[in-house]
Amino acid sequence: MNAEEYRESLKRYHPVVYVDGERVECVADDERFAPGVRALGVSYDYALRPELAPLMLANDRLTGRRVNRMLHINSDSGDLLNKLEAVRLLCQETGCAQRYLVHDAMNALYQVCARLDAETRDKTHVERFSAYLDHVQQNDLSIGIAMTDAKGDRSRRPHQQGNADTYVHVVAKNERGIVISGTKAIVTGAPYMHELLVMPCRNMTEADAAFALCCAVPVDAKGVTMVSRPAGRPGEKAALFSAKYGQSTAVVMFEEVEVPWDRVFYAGDWQQSATLTYSYATHHRHSCIAARAGFGDLLIGAGALMCEANGFDVSKDPQLKDQMVELIKIVEGFYACGVAASVYAKADPYSHSLMPDPVYSNIGKLLLATQIYDMQRIAHTVSGGLIVALPGPDEDHNPHTAARLADVLSAHPDIPYDKRIETARFIEDLSASYTGGWYSVISLHGGGSPAAMKQEIWRNYPVGDKVALVERLLERGVTVGENTNQRQPGKCCAQGCSVPGETIMVDLPELPSRSIKRVA
Ligand SMILES: Cc1cc2nc3c(=O)[nH]c(=O)nc-3n(C[C@H](O)[C@H](O)[C@H](O)COP(=O)(O)OP(=O)(O)OC[C@H]3O[C@@H](n4cnc5c(N)ncnc54)[C@H](O)[C@@H]3O)c2cc1C
Repeated sequence: MNAEEYRESLKRYHPVVYVDGERVECVADDERFAPGVRALGVSYDYALRPELAPLMLANDRLTGRRVNRMLHINSDSGDLLNKLEAVRLLCQETGCAQRYLVHDAMNALYQVCARLDAETRDKTHVERFSAYLDHVQQNDLSIGIAMTDAKGDRSRRPHQQGNADTYVHVVAKNERGIVISGTKAIVTGAPYMHELLVMPCRNMTEADAAFALCCAVPVDAKGVTMVSRPAGRPGEKAALFSAKYGQSTAVVMFEEVEVPWDRVFYAGDWQQSATLTYSYATHHRHSCIAARAGFGDLLIGAGALMCEANGFDVSKDPQLKDQMVELIKIVEGFYACGVAASVYAKADPYSHSLMPDPVYSNIGKLLLATQIYDMQRIAHTVSGGLIVALPGPDEDHNPHTAARLADVLSAHPDIPYDKRIETARFIEDLSASYTGGWYSVISLHGGGSPAAMKQEIWRNYPVGDKVALVERLLERGVTVGENTNQRQPGKCCAQGCSVPGETIMVDLPELPSRSIKRVA
């Protein structure tokens, strides 16, 4: 599909959506979602541009089809590098492309289905997954990822909650499928997706088995209600960027929604929830790195333009150059973690598809989650206070003031007033408006809060190896493992063992050949 066909395709669905307290008649035609529909549309249009084909399209090993890269299962490091570049490109244009979440979820789901086939008597998981992947690719769908439950009291497990609907759970099973109820609290773009992939958001215990489920439902399945925010800042004149491109998020409530067995990837296999969330988080944090690098590119470009419009030559001003280099260092620093995670990626032992390296993926996401605030600060520092103090767009045409404002608020002699205020409003929109705050919060919490990344870095980093290294250097002659409490579970011996459900970094095995396809 191209962007317009995608928008039209949404009319085939009739989801129950509320926004600003009103029921939405038609998502595709509602102006409040237009920035979101437009942003997603870019992922469709770019895939049809021949010069972008090496990035935006991929040959799928599983289905043998040439598909949108956002719907592709990775088989080598080149795929991961190309996905990084593709997501960065989409987010440069749209701020947040949103569609990469389905890429991350499908890759994680494939890994879990292959593992379930290997570990359980039911050998049909990959078959069901493949049929679903085929359906998604064939119809070029957009899928919302419904993972984050409402969660209720954070200190309690799902089965301990006073209200079971704070987590999505199975309320009945019959010969047709499962029936689910509960709430997913934050689903990106839900109203303008075709389907939702429902996944668990945390590890589970046996007592949580009813909450351990993964399935796909159309957005207009009976019993699904979405309460959404508008996408971006639709209709706001000063919102130069986010009136055009934006993202909505919705609370999605499920009330006795029937899901046929062919769309149930698992239900009750509580042991798989940790694996699924871990795999999804690793793929997704890798994608988040590229997404925020695309946003960083916008800040770098706008920051440099603003300096110029203010009358400075950045290359000759040490203070401004220092700030701009700091911004570049931050953006390319976390992006480099994405590149490293692609290069050090490993094949999943069950599906043999490729997963980015978890340590680098988590470090990159952790860096962007915290440094987004430094990125915004630098954009504010180099721009000056006008970005929030300028008169609004209606004043641009006020016959009493417009000409004088243009005279006194110009700076660089060669840069007209309207170009200067355009740049200032662009920076305000991206860094100091509702959208600016939104970018900070999505960077901090989207894909997991910093504590989650820190946990994964610690869990996957071979600290024990470093301890052994120093022990060897100190020539203490102590046996590995005897003289330190620095070992982590699963890293206690040279041979390596693993706690079920936990993935660890092991000594390098024979690596499969990885052709790193650099895109010209
Ligand atoms: C703009 C945006 C878009 C998003 N899109 C999606 C999406 O499309 N699909 C999706 O599934 N999710 C999405 N998310 C959700 C995102 O994954 C979550 O925000 C994130 O996982 C954190 O969960 P939470 O928001 O419920 O915060 P909480 O879980 O309430 O966490 C708040 C703080 O409390 C800490 N905390 C939480 N639990 C504990 C505990 N037991 N002990 C100690 N500390 C704890 C956390 O570390 C964090 O610092 C999106 C989020 C944002 C902001």
